[in-house]
Amino acid sequence: MKRRRVYLDNSATTVVYPEVIKEMQSYFSDTYGNASSLHYFGRQAKIALDNARKKTAALLNASSEEIFFTGCGTESDNIAIFGILNAHKKKGHVITSRIEHHAVLYSCKHLEDDGYEVTYLDVDKDGIVSVEDLKEAVKDDTILVTIMHANNEVGSIQPIEEIALELKKINAKRKNKIYFHTDAVQTAGKLHLDVEKLGVDLLAISAHKFNGPKGVGALYVKKGTNISPITFGGHHENGLRSGTENISSISGFAKAFEISSSKIEECNKRILDLREKLKAGILSTIPEVIINGSGSKAVSNILNVSFNYIEGEALLLMLDMKGIAVSTGSACATGSAEPSHVLSAMGVNPVASQGAIRFSVGCYNTGEDVDYVLEVLPKAVNSLRSMSPVWNQKNA
Ligand SMILES: *Cc1c(COP(=O)(O)O)cnc(C)c1O
Repeated sequence: MKRRRVYLDNSATTVVYPEVIKEMQSYFSDTYGNASSLHYFGRQAKIALDNARKKTAALLNASSEEIFFTGCGTESDNIAIFGILNAHKKKGHVITSRIEHHAVLYSCKHLEDDGYEVTYLDVDKDGIVSVEDLKEAVKDDTILVTIMHANNEVGSIQPIEEIALELKKINAKRKNKIYFHTDAVQTAGKLHLDVEKLGVDLLAISAHKFNGPKGVGALYVKKGTNISPITFGGHHENGLRSGTENISSISGFAKAFEISSSKIEECNKRILDLREKLKAGILSTIPEVIINGSGSKAVSNILNVSFNYIEGEALLLMLDMKGIAVSTGSACATGSAEPSHVLSAMGVNPVASQGAIRFSVGCYNTGEDVDYVLEVLPKAVNSLRSMSPVWNQKNA
């Protein structure tokens, strides 16, 4: 019998839409030109590139000149951060949060090694930064603020619009503009993104988180932003990201972004229902669980649960044996015994943090998937707890 597989790790990556695969294929065999070439093949590729850029810009309420295609979300974040700082003559101060994705967090650590000062803002128990804290953190030499839109481990949505409004007021009173970048990788295709409304100068997104291909991202850079490239070459992407454009991936990016954006309401409703069903099922069948970041200000697809007295990693492996794919905190933390930096920042104690599992629902999941998880999960938790001396002592 074929093993039943349930994929609940959609915040790590997603399956590619069939329409996107179809769209991408033609660029390997037919429209394979180099978009920089002047001949017919090149012009066809250039048309595809321009179309993808136009579509992406429209979905973000930006203009085409403000969209730069990159190799992934991580690269978009790196170009945003180092690009802004490199364009600045003097070293200075950067503000971020303690719950950023490693693409931002480790970039900031690197900045510190390089002589920049970085403030890491705390978050509350729901995983949300305080606008007041941010205002207080601003210094005379602050160059950049980088705060994610939604967190990838618990789904908490940050007050990007409010932060942008405050920065606008602060910028009106000073000579050196503070730039504002947001990592919107977890919200693209899940919330309607409007760069004007958000008020950001830079915004990073990645196709594989919204049912597009891996290895392609985009960076929005507001017109007039002083930014330098971090790699050098043939002046592609207006000189900001050199390298022959991957037309197939870029077209797949735009197609996936278009489909996801057109299904936001429909998908979110389904996903929210499934997540709530999963959450209710867990709470009613398994004792000693904590829902992390259960606040109302969160994206609808993530459910982060601590199962006390067990190791998240052990539970993950046991679920995997039953065909269920989940993650512990974030995929990037796999292999490290460190408790999640996000849960620590939210004040989750290290033991509960070790027992944390992230379920992330996608638009292809079904009610039967959740039923199956609810059948397997309580048994798995029981069997692991029965091996825990602390649990056994407590229940003796
Ligand atoms: C996945 C993710 C990234 C990295 O994107 P890649 O395309 O995988 O490099 C960055 N930020 C967040 C919040 C993510 O979830």
